[in-house]
Amino acid sequence: MQSDFVLRGGTVVDADRDGERLDLLIQNGKIAALLAPGTPVAEGVAEVAIDGLHVFPGLIDAHVHFGFGEKITEYETETIYAAQGGFTTILGYFLNNEAYTEVYEREQNYARTRAYVDYGFHFSVANEQHVEQMKEYVQRYGVTSFKYFMNFRGEEGRYLGLDGTDDGYFHDMLAESARIGGVKIVCHTENIEIVNRLRRKIQAQNGSTLKDWAATKPPFTEAESCVRAMLFAEHLGAQIYIPHLSTRMALDEVRRWRGRYDAVHVETCPHYLTHTEDSDLGSVGKANPPFRSADDVEAMWEGLRDGSIDVVASDHVPRKLATKQRPLWLASQGFPGTATILPVLLSEGYHKGRLSLRRIAEVLTRAPARIFDLSPTKGAIAVGADADFTVVDIDKERVVKAEELGSYSDYSLYDGWKLKGWPVRTIVRGTTVMQDGKITGQAGFGEYIARKTSV
Ligand SMILES: [Zn+2]
Repeated sequence: MQSDFVLRGGTVVDADRDGERLDLLIQNGKIAALLAPGTPVAEGVAEVAIDGLHVFPGLIDAHVHFGFGEKITEYETETIYAAQGGFTTILGYFLNNEAYTEVYEREQNYARTRAYVDYGFHFSVANEQHVEQMKEYVQRYGVTSFKYFMNFRGEEGRYLGLDGTDDGYFHDMLAESARIGGVKIVCHTENIEIVNRLRRKIQAQNGSTLKDWAATKPPFTEAESCVRAMLFAEHLGAQIYIPHLSTRMALDEVRRWRGRYDAVHVETCPHYLTHTEDSDLGSVGKANPPFRSADDVEAMWEGLRDGSIDVVASDHVPRKLATKQRPLWLASQGFPGTATILPVLLSEGYHKGRLSLRRIAEVLTRAPARIFDLSPTKGAIAVGADADFTVVDIDKERVVKAEELGSYSDYSLYDGWKLKGWPVRTIVRGTTVMQDGKITGQAGFGEYIARKTSV
Protein backbone atom coordinates (compact mmCIF):
# COMPACT_ATOMS: atom_id res chain seq x y z
CA MET A 1 0.00 0.00 0.00
CA GLN A 2 2.88 2.37 0.72
CA SER A 3 4.72 3.18 -2.45
CA ASP A 4 7.98 5.07 -2.65
CA PHE A 5 7.79 8.67 -3.77
CA VAL A 6 9.68 11.91 -3.90
CA LEU A 7 8.20 15.15 -2.52
CA ARG A 8 9.36 17.86 -4.92
CA GLY A 9 9.44 21.62 -4.79
CA GLY A 10 8.72 22.20 -1.11
CA THR A 11 10.55 24.44 1.31
CA VAL A 12 11.69 22.39 4.30
CA VAL A 13 11.30 23.89 7.76
CA ASP A 14 12.49 22.18 10.93
CA ALA A 15 14.17 23.07 14.20
CA ASP A 16 17.44 23.69 12.32
CA ARG A 17 16.13 25.16 9.06
CA ASP A 18 14.13 28.31 8.64
CA GLY A 19 13.27 27.27 5.10
CA GLU A 20 15.44 25.37 2.64
CA ARG A 21 14.49 24.11 -0.80
CA LEU A 22 14.93 20.35 -0.69
CA ASP A 23 13.32 17.34 -2.31
CA LEU A 24 12.54 14.43 -0.01
CA LEU A 25 12.78 10.79 -0.98
CA ILE A 26 10.46 8.44 0.92
CA GLN A 27 10.93 4.67 0.95
CA ASN A 28 8.95 2.19 3.02
CA GLY A 29 7.39 4.93 5.09
CA LYS A 30 10.78 6.36 6.10
CA ILE A 31 12.80 9.32 4.92
CA ALA A 32 15.47 7.83 2.64
CA ALA A 33 17.21 10.99 1.43
CA LEU A 34 17.19 14.79 1.47
CA LEU A 35 18.01 15.83 -2.08
CA ALA A 36 19.04 19.01 -3.84
CA PRO A 37 16.04 20.28 -5.84
CA GLY A 38 15.58 18.38 -9.08
CA THR A 39 17.93 15.50 -8.26
CA PRO A 40 16.86 12.53 -10.41
CA VAL A 41 15.59 9.43 -8.59
CA ALA A 42 15.16 5.81 -9.67
CA GLU A 43 12.60 5.07 -12.35
CA GLY A 44 9.17 4.16 -11.09
CA VAL A 45 9.37 6.36 -8.00
CA ALA A 46 6.27 8.57 -7.96
CA GLU A 47 6.71 12.33 -8.03
CA VAL A 48 4.56 14.44 -5.74
CA ALA A 49 4.78 18.17 -6.50
CA ILE A 50 4.32 20.61 -3.64
CA ASP A 51 5.69 23.77 -5.23
CA GLY A 52 5.14 26.89 -3.19
CA LEU A 53 4.37 24.98 -0.02
CA HIS A 54 6.36 24.47 3.17
CA VAL A 55 7.10 21.06 4.70
CA PHE A 56 7.37 20.68 8.47
CA PRO A 57 8.18 17.46 10.31
CA GLY A 58 4.87 15.85 11.31
CA LEU A 59 3.47 17.92 14.17
CA ILE A 60 3.20 16.42 17.65
CA ASP A 61 0.51 17.42 20.16
CA ALA A 62 1.95 16.33 23.49
CA HIS A 63 -1.11 17.30 25.55
CA VAL A 64 -4.45 15.79 24.62
CA HIS A 65 -7.08 14.34 26.95
CA PHE A 66 -8.73 11.03 26.29
CA GLY A 67 -11.83 9.91 28.08
CA PHE A 68 -13.93 13.07 28.12
CA GLY A 69 -15.83 12.65 24.87
CA GLU A 70 -17.59 9.58 23.49
CA LYS A 71 -15.05 7.18 24.88
CA ILE A 72 -14.98 4.55 22.17
CA THR A 73 -15.27 6.65 19.05
CA GLU A 74 -13.10 9.52 20.24
CA TYR A 75 -10.00 7.77 18.92
CA GLU A 76 -11.56 8.11 15.51
CA THR A 77 -12.96 11.63 15.77
CA GLU A 78 -10.03 13.16 17.62
CA THR A 79 -7.35 11.63 15.39
CA ILE A 80 -9.27 12.84 12.32
CA TYR A 81 -9.32 16.25 13.96
CA ALA A 82 -5.57 15.98 14.59
CA ALA A 83 -4.97 15.06 10.94
CA GLN A 84 -7.03 18.09 9.85
CA GLY A 85 -4.66 20.24 11.89
CA GLY A 86 -1.52 18.67 10.43
CA PHE A 87 -0.76 16.56 13.50
CA THR A 88 0.78 13.14 12.88
CA THR A 89 1.27 12.15 16.53
CA ILE A 90 -0.75 12.88 19.66
CA LEU A 91 -0.01 11.97 23.27
CA GLY A 92 -3.09 11.55 25.41
CA TYR A 93 -3.53 11.67 29.18
CA PHE A 94 -5.46 9.22 31.28
CA LEU A 95 -6.55 9.95 34.79
CA ASN A 96 -7.85 6.89 36.59
CA ASN A 97 -7.90 5.41 40.03
CA GLU A 98 -7.67 1.81 38.78
CA ALA A 99 -4.42 0.14 37.73
CA TYR A 100 -3.24 1.25 34.30
CA THR A 101 -2.73 -2.37 33.30
CA GLU A 102 -6.53 -2.48 32.90
CA VAL A 103 -6.81 0.99 31.43
CA TYR A 104 -4.14 0.24 28.85
CA GLU A 105 -5.79 -2.92 27.52
CA ARG A 106 -9.25 -1.37 27.38
CA GLU A 107 -8.16 1.83 25.67
CA GLN A 108 -5.96 0.01 23.19
CA ASN A 109 -8.94 -2.09 22.19
CA TYR A 110 -10.79 1.12 21.36
CA ALA A 111 -7.86 2.88 19.75
CA ARG A 112 -6.16 0.21 17.67
CA THR A 113 -8.86 -0.07 15.04
CA ARG A 114 -9.83 3.59 15.04
CA ALA A 115 -6.82 5.89 15.08
CA TYR A 116 -5.91 7.82 11.92
CA VAL A 117 -2.60 9.17 13.23
CA ASP A 118 0.03 7.78 15.58
CA TYR A 119 -0.62 8.06 19.28
CA GLY A 120 0.90 7.44 22.69
CA PHE A 121 -0.24 7.63 26.29
CA HIS A 122 0.67 9.50 29.45
CA PHE A 123 -0.66 8.04 32.71
CA SER A 124 -1.59 10.17 35.72
CA VAL A 125 -0.30 8.86 39.01
CA ALA A 126 -2.85 9.24 41.75
CA ASN A 127 -2.45 6.42 44.27
CA GLU A 128 0.16 4.11 45.85
CA GLN A 129 -0.40 1.32 43.35
CA HIS A 130 0.41 3.63 40.45
CA VAL A 131 3.79 4.45 41.99
CA GLU A 132 4.53 0.78 42.68
CA GLN A 133 3.68 -0.11 39.09
CA MET A 134 5.39 2.83 37.42
CA LYS A 135 8.40 0.80 36.35
CA GLU A 136 6.14 -1.87 34.89
CA TYR A 137 4.25 0.79 32.90
CA VAL A 138 7.56 1.98 31.45
CA GLN A 139 8.73 -1.50 30.54
CA ARG A 140 5.50 -3.11 29.41
CA TYR A 141 3.68 -0.27 27.73
CA GLY A 142 6.37 2.19 26.74
CA VAL A 143 4.75 4.92 28.81
CA THR A 144 7.61 7.14 29.99
CA SER A 145 5.71 10.19 31.24
CA PHE A 146 3.40 10.45 34.21
CA LYS A 147 1.22 13.29 35.35
CA TYR A 148 0.84 14.42 38.91
CA PHE A 149 -1.79 16.92 40.01
CA MET A 150 -0.23 19.03 42.76
CA ASN A 151 -3.73 20.48 43.29
CA PHE A 152 -5.46 17.17 44.04
CA ARG A 153 -5.40 17.49 47.79
CA GLY A 154 -8.31 16.74 50.05
CA GLU A 155 -11.52 16.68 48.02
CA GLU A 156 -10.25 18.41 44.88
CA GLY A 157 -9.95 15.22 42.79
CA ARG A 158 -13.05 13.58 44.23
CA TYR A 159 -15.17 14.35 41.17
CA LEU A 160 -12.90 11.89 39.38
CA GLY A 161 -13.05 9.34 42.17
CA LEU A 162 -9.57 10.17 43.43
CA ASP A 163 -8.34 10.42 47.00
CA GLY A 164 -6.21 13.43 47.78
CA THR A 165 -2.44 13.03 48.01
CA ASP A 166 0.16 15.15 49.79
CA ASP A 167 3.78 16.29 49.58
CA GLY A 168 4.97 12.97 51.03
CA TYR A 169 3.36 11.16 48.10
CA PHE A 170 4.84 13.67 45.63
CA HIS A 171 8.27 13.18 47.23
CA ASP A 172 8.20 9.39 47.00
CA MET A 173 6.76 9.40 43.48
CA LEU A 174 9.48 11.73 42.21
CA ALA A 175 12.11 9.61 43.97
CA GLU A 176 10.75 6.50 42.24
CA SER A 177 10.80 8.26 38.86
CA ALA A 178 14.46 9.18 39.44
CA ARG A 179 15.27 5.58 40.42
CA ILE A 180 13.73 4.28 37.20
CA GLY A 181 15.59 6.98 35.29
CA GLY A 182 14.61 8.98 32.21
CA VAL A 183 10.97 9.22 33.27
CA LYS A 184 9.28 12.64 33.03
CA ILE A 185 6.86 13.75 35.70
CA VAL A 186 4.34 16.22 34.34
CA CYS A 187 3.38 18.49 37.26
CA HIS A 188 0.09 20.35 37.25
CA THR A 189 1.25 23.32 39.30
CA GLU A 190 -1.40 25.03 41.42
CA ASN A 191 -1.50 25.91 45.11
CA ILE A 192 -5.06 24.73 45.71
CA GLU A 193 -5.13 25.75 49.37
CA ILE A 194 -4.87 29.41 48.44
CA VAL A 195 -7.25 28.89 45.50
CA ASN A 196 -9.90 27.28 47.72
CA ARG A 197 -10.02 30.25 50.09
CA LEU A 198 -10.17 32.75 47.25
CA ARG A 199 -12.87 30.74 45.50
CA ARG A 200 -15.09 30.76 48.58
CA LYS A 201 -14.68 34.49 48.94
CA ILE A 202 -15.35 35.27 45.28
CA GLN A 203 -18.33 32.92 45.09
CA ALA A 204 -19.79 34.59 48.19
CA GLN A 205 -19.55 37.90 46.32
CA ASN A 206 -21.45 36.33 43.39
CA GLY A 207 -18.50 36.48 41.04
CA SER A 208 -19.52 35.19 37.62
CA THR A 209 -17.07 36.43 35.00
CA LEU A 210 -13.86 35.05 33.54
CA LYS A 211 -12.05 37.75 35.45
CA ASP A 212 -13.57 36.42 38.68
CA TRP A 213 -12.49 32.92 37.69
CA ALA A 214 -8.95 34.17 37.09
CA ALA A 215 -9.01 35.96 40.44
CA THR A 216 -9.49 32.63 42.24
CA LYS A 217 -6.20 31.42 40.77
CA PRO A 218 -3.81 34.39 40.80
CA PRO A 219 -0.32 34.08 39.25
CA PHE A 220 1.31 33.45 42.63
CA THR A 221 -0.62 30.16 43.02
CA GLU A 222 1.01 28.92 39.81
CA ALA A 223 4.47 30.39 40.46
CA GLU A 224 4.75 29.10 44.04
CA SER A 225 3.76 25.61 42.97
CA CYS A 226 6.33 25.68 40.11
CA VAL A 227 9.06 26.64 42.57
CA ARG A 228 8.13 23.78 44.85
CA ALA A 229 8.02 21.28 41.98
CA MET A 230 11.46 22.42 40.82
CA LEU A 231 12.95 22.27 44.32
CA PHE A 232 11.56 18.76 44.85
CA ALA A 233 12.86 17.69 41.44
CA GLU A 234 16.34 19.06 42.08
CA HIS A 235 16.49 17.49 45.51
CA LEU A 236 15.49 14.07 44.16
CA GLY A 237 17.17 14.22 40.76
CA ALA A 238 13.84 13.88 38.96
CA GLN A 239 12.95 15.27 35.53
CA ILE A 240 9.83 17.40 35.44
CA TYR A 241 7.65 19.00 32.80
CA ILE A 242 5.35 21.90 33.62
CA PRO A 243 2.30 21.83 31.34
CA HIS A 244 0.07 24.77 30.41
CA LEU A 245 2.26 27.49 31.93
CA SER A 246 0.24 30.69 31.87
CA THR A 247 1.83 33.52 33.88
CA ARG A 248 4.86 35.78 33.65
CA MET A 249 5.49 35.27 37.36
CA ALA A 250 5.83 31.49 36.97
CA LEU A 251 7.90 31.84 33.80
CA ASP A 252 10.34 34.15 35.56
CA GLU A 253 10.74 31.58 38.35
CA VAL A 254 11.43 28.85 35.79
CA ARG A 255 14.05 31.02 34.10
CA ARG A 256 15.78 31.63 37.43
CA TRP A 257 15.69 27.98 38.43
CA ARG A 258 17.00 26.54 35.23
CA GLY A 259 20.37 28.13 35.92
CA ARG A 260 20.54 25.90 38.96
CA TYR A 261 18.74 22.74 37.82
CA ASP A 262 17.88 22.26 34.18
CA ALA A 263 15.80 19.05 34.09
CA VAL A 264 12.72 21.25 33.91
CA HIS A 265 10.70 21.49 30.70
CA VAL A 266 7.90 23.94 30.05
CA GLU A 267 4.80 23.97 27.87
CA THR A 268 2.21 26.61 27.14
CA CYS A 269 -1.04 26.32 25.19
CA PRO A 270 -2.42 28.33 22.27
CA HIS A 271 -5.18 29.96 24.32
CA TYR A 272 -2.62 31.55 26.66
CA LEU A 273 -1.20 33.21 23.54
CA THR A 274 -4.50 34.56 22.24
CA HIS A 275 -7.03 35.11 25.03
CA THR A 276 -7.12 37.24 28.17
CA GLU A 277 -9.33 37.34 31.24
CA ASP A 278 -11.16 40.25 29.57
CA SER A 279 -12.46 37.92 26.85
CA ASP A 280 -16.24 38.06 26.33
CA LEU A 281 -16.55 34.29 25.93
CA GLY A 282 -18.06 33.90 29.39
CA SER A 283 -18.10 30.37 30.76
CA VAL A 284 -17.09 29.00 27.34
CA GLY A 285 -13.67 30.48 28.13
CA LYS A 286 -13.34 28.63 31.43
CA ALA A 287 -10.08 26.73 31.72
CA ASN A 288 -7.60 25.73 34.35
CA PRO A 289 -5.26 27.61 34.40
CA PRO A 290 -7.57 30.54 33.57
CA PHE A 291 -7.03 33.11 30.84
CA ARG A 292 -4.65 35.72 32.21
CA SER A 293 -3.72 39.37 31.66
CA ALA A 294 -2.47 40.93 28.43
CA ASP A 295 0.99 41.13 30.02
CA ASP A 296 0.95 37.39 30.73
CA VAL A 297 0.03 36.75 27.08
CA GLU A 298 3.00 38.86 26.03
CA ALA A 299 5.23 36.91 28.43
CA MET A 300 4.22 33.62 26.80
CA TRP A 301 5.28 34.95 23.38
CA GLU A 302 8.56 36.15 24.87
CA GLY A 303 9.16 32.76 26.47
CA LEU A 304 8.56 31.01 23.16
CA ARG A 305 10.91 33.38 21.39
CA ASP A 306 13.78 33.14 23.88
CA GLY A 307 13.46 29.37 24.37
CA SER A 308 12.37 29.40 28.00
CA ILE A 309 9.13 27.73 26.86
CA ASP A 310 9.94 24.47 25.09
CA VAL A 311 6.61 23.20 23.78
CA VAL A 312 3.21 24.42 22.61
CA ALA A 313 0.48 21.82 23.09
CA SER A 314 -3.29 22.06 23.04
CA ASP A 315 -4.63 20.64 26.34
CA HIS A 316 -7.35 19.38 23.98
CA VAL A 317 -10.60 18.40 25.71
CA PRO A 318 -13.27 17.21 23.25
CA ARG A 319 -16.43 18.09 25.12
CA LYS A 320 -19.61 19.56 23.65
CA LEU A 321 -20.38 23.27 23.86
CA ALA A 322 -23.42 22.47 26.03
CA THR A 323 -21.09 21.46 28.88
CA LYS A 324 -19.67 24.99 28.78
CA GLN A 325 -22.94 26.90 28.54
CA ARG A 326 -23.71 26.81 32.23
CA PRO A 327 -23.17 29.25 35.07
CA LEU A 328 -19.42 29.81 35.42
CA TRP A 329 -18.88 27.65 38.50
CA LEU A 330 -20.66 24.66 36.92
CA ALA A 331 -19.27 24.91 33.39
CA SER A 332 -16.76 22.29 32.27
CA GLN A 333 -13.12 23.30 31.93
CA GLY A 334 -10.93 23.33 28.85
CA PHE A 335 -11.55 23.27 25.10
CA PRO A 336 -10.76 21.42 21.91
CA GLY A 337 -7.52 22.75 20.46
CA THR A 338 -5.22 20.49 18.43
CA ALA A 339 -6.36 21.41 14.94
CA THR A 340 -5.99 25.16 15.40
CA ILE A 341 -2.51 25.18 16.99
CA LEU A 342 -0.56 25.64 13.78
CA PRO A 343 -2.82 28.32 12.23
CA VAL A 344 -2.70 30.23 15.54
CA LEU A 345 1.11 30.10 15.71
CA LEU A 346 1.51 31.06 12.05
CA SER A 347 -1.14 33.78 12.11
CA GLU A 348 -0.45 35.34 15.49
CA GLY A 349 3.23 34.36 15.73
CA TYR A 350 4.97 34.17 12.37
CA HIS A 351 2.87 36.66 10.41
CA LYS A 352 3.02 39.20 13.25
CA GLY A 353 6.80 38.94 13.50
CA ARG A 354 6.81 37.27 16.91
CA LEU A 355 8.15 33.81 15.99
CA SER A 356 10.29 32.36 13.22
CA LEU A 357 9.14 29.33 11.25
CA ARG A 358 12.11 27.45 12.71
CA ARG A 359 10.96 28.14 16.27
CA ILE A 360 7.41 27.07 15.42
CA ALA A 361 8.78 23.80 14.06
CA GLU A 362 10.91 23.34 17.16
CA VAL A 363 8.09 23.81 19.69
CA LEU A 364 5.71 21.54 17.74
CA THR A 365 8.13 18.80 16.65
CA ARG A 366 11.69 18.43 17.90
CA ALA A 367 11.13 19.62 21.47
CA PRO A 368 8.15 17.37 22.27
CA ALA A 369 9.84 14.47 20.44
CA ARG A 370 12.98 14.78 22.54
CA ILE A 371 11.26 15.42 25.85
CA PHE A 372 8.78 12.57 25.43
CA ASP A 373 11.13 9.97 23.92
CA LEU A 374 9.73 10.01 20.39
CA SER A 375 13.11 10.86 18.85
CA PRO A 376 14.75 9.96 16.54
CA THR A 377 11.77 8.31 14.79
CA LYS A 378 9.58 11.40 15.13
CA GLY A 379 10.15 15.15 15.24
CA ALA A 380 12.77 15.66 12.54
CA ILE A 381 13.25 15.67 8.80
CA ALA A 382 16.27 13.38 8.74
CA VAL A 383 17.30 10.21 6.99
CA GLY A 384 15.88 7.19 8.81
CA ALA A 385 13.08 9.08 10.57
CA ASP A 386 9.43 8.23 9.92
CA ALA A 387 8.12 10.00 6.82
CA ASP A 388 5.74 12.16 8.87
CA PHE A 389 5.19 15.53 7.24
CA THR A 390 2.89 18.48 7.59
CA VAL A 391 2.66 20.32 4.29
CA VAL A 392 1.70 23.93 4.94
CA ASP A 393 0.43 26.84 2.88
CA ILE A 394 1.73 29.64 5.07
CA ASP A 395 -0.27 32.31 3.23
CA LYS A 396 -3.59 30.51 3.04
CA GLU A 397 -6.35 32.38 4.81
CA ARG A 398 -9.27 30.46 6.18
CA VAL A 399 -12.04 31.21 8.64
CA VAL A 400 -12.20 28.69 11.48
CA LYS A 401 -15.39 26.61 11.46
CA ALA A 402 -15.36 23.89 14.07
CA GLU A 403 -17.67 21.64 12.07
CA GLU A 404 -15.05 21.37 9.32
CA LEU A 405 -12.40 20.03 11.66
CA GLY A 406 -13.98 16.75 12.71
CA SER A 407 -13.77 16.70 16.50
CA TYR A 408 -16.52 15.19 18.66
CA SER A 409 -16.70 18.62 20.25
CA ASP A 410 -18.83 21.09 18.34
CA TYR A 411 -17.10 24.42 18.81
CA SER A 412 -13.74 26.14 18.74
CA LEU A 413 -12.41 29.10 20.69
CA TYR A 414 -11.44 30.44 17.27
CA ASP A 415 -14.78 30.01 15.50
CA GLY A 416 -15.09 32.92 13.08
CA TRP A 417 -11.42 33.95 13.34
CA LYS A 418 -9.70 34.34 10.00
CA LEU A 419 -6.30 32.70 10.43
CA LYS A 420 -3.43 32.83 7.97
CA GLY A 421 -1.30 29.71 7.49
CA TRP A 422 -2.92 26.25 7.29
CA PRO A 423 -1.84 22.66 6.83
CA VAL A 424 -2.95 21.36 3.44
CA ARG A 425 -1.62 17.83 3.62
CA THR A 426 -0.80 15.49 6.50
CA ILE A 427 1.49 12.54 5.81
CA VAL A 428 1.95 9.76 8.37
CA ARG A 429 4.74 7.24 7.70
CA GLY A 430 4.56 8.01 3.98
CA THR A 431 0.77 7.82 3.69
CA THR A 432 -1.31 10.93 3.09
CA VAL A 433 -4.08 10.93 5.68
CA MET A 434 -5.44 14.44 4.98
CA GLN A 435 -5.32 16.50 1.81
CA ASP A 436 -6.97 19.89 1.31
CA GLY A 437 -9.32 19.29 4.22
CA LYS A 438 -10.38 15.82 3.07
CA ILE A 439 -9.54 12.77 5.14
CA THR A 440 -7.78 10.27 2.91
CA GLY A 441 -6.43 7.96 5.61
CA GLN A 442 -8.03 4.99 7.24
CA ALA A 443 -9.23 4.13 10.71
CA GLY A 444 -6.69 1.85 12.35
CA PHE A 445 -3.76 3.14 10.31
CA GLY A 446 -2.49 5.12 13.30
CA GLU A 447 -0.02 3.14 15.38
CA TYR A 448 0.56 3.10 19.10
CA ILE A 449 4.00 4.41 20.01
CA ALA A 450 5.72 2.50 22.79
CA ARG A 451 8.43 4.85 24.03
CA LYS A 452 11.79 4.04 25.57
CA THR A 453 13.39 6.12 28.29
CA SER A 454 16.57 7.74 27.14
CA VAL A 455 18.75 7.16 30.18
ZN1 LIG B 1 -4.55 19.00 30.48
